[in-house]
Amino acid sequence: MDRISWVDYQARLAAGPVLFLPCGALEQHGPHLPLGVDAMLAADIACRVAAAVGGLVAPPLNYGYKSQARCGGGQTFPGTASLDGEHLIGVVRDIIREFARHGVERLVLVDGHYENQWFLTEAIETAVRELAPGHPLKIVRTEYWEFCPQSVLDDIFENGFPGFALEHAALIETSMMLALRPELVAMDKLPDDGPAAFPVHDCYPQDGRGVPPSGVLASAVGASAAKGEKIVAAICSRMAEALQKEFFA
Ligand SMILES: [Zn+2]
Repeated sequence: MDRISWVDYQARLAAGPVLFLPCGALEQHGPHLPLGVDAMLAADIACRVAAAVGGLVAPPLNYGYKSQARCGGGQTFPGTASLDGEHLIGVVRDIIREFARHGVERLVLVDGHYENQWFLTEAIETAVRELAPGHPLKIVRTEYWEFCPQSVLDDIFENGFPGFALEHAALIETSMMLALRPELVAMDKLPDDGPAAFPVHDCYPQDGRGVPPSGVLASAVGASAAKGEKIVAAICSRMAEALQKEFFA
């Protein structure tokens, strides 16, 4: 969207495209991955799905809600730069309001950062409440990893899947980055200090307890571009299928 003119954008809107808003974070992802992983993966998935369903991708949100220890390593790392919830809600609500004004009728939020989920939800809920009754805008909120089928997880995790929360900067994200942005992955810096051992509760102020010093919550050993492509392909085809049903069935 940010690479075309308003005239071209307006012309594209006439065809009723699906508009994608990738939502990421600026957050540590271990010594081997860049800080922008969540926005990059959300944007790359959005681009691939957009190509499949006839869509347009808005610039990604490169900042997100505060990193939490048990799913992102927490706020104690240099580089992790996060928003207060109310600000994230406000930014996303403003963007939705603008898209609605443009006449967008099909909008998808592709979340790449676990902690964003309920703030994106609140932005959507309050934006929808503000729309005139009968406004045709329909919004779908996705967490992209939810589209990864169990069969692919079984295939990729020979020693058992640790769960998506612990998969921070681990096998899935590292493999996906190797498939999509290999030039940004440093496999020679893969840490070996995990896995994380957390209590079932959280303490504030955050003190980083239970978080491995590297910030990687589970092992990324065995990550590969081939695994990443398998994950990305499965996610994209299932997301495209779901959106096709939501918007065009
Ligand atoms: Zn991530």
